[in-house]
Amino acid sequence: MSICKTCGQEMNLASGCTLRRYANEKKDRLPYMPEDPERNPRCHDCGVQPGQFHHPGCDMEECPDCGGQLITCSCSHGESA
Ligand SMILES: [Zn+2]
Ligand SMILES: [Zn+2]
Ligand SMILES: [Zn+2]
Repeated sequence: MSICKTCGQEMNLASGCTLRRYANEKKDRLPYMPEDPERNPRCHDCGVQPGQFHHPGCDMEECPDCGGQLITCSCSHGESA
């Protein structure tokens, strides 16, 4: 069991995160879009359902700016204060 610090929901029970956009970010976050929703209905890392936003820190989240892995790319996403 793990609770998302951003939305306060239990990750395995919530359909998705309520955070639509990071602070300082001009674009909306990219929702989880599995290549094979029938086999992988939920994100393997944070547990959200297709079309929903990942919980911040998920290793499957893509960056809306560069299209890379959001947690490792060099773009600023306003996570730090
Ligand atoms: Zn969340
Ligand atoms: Zn995820
Ligand atoms: Zn990026």
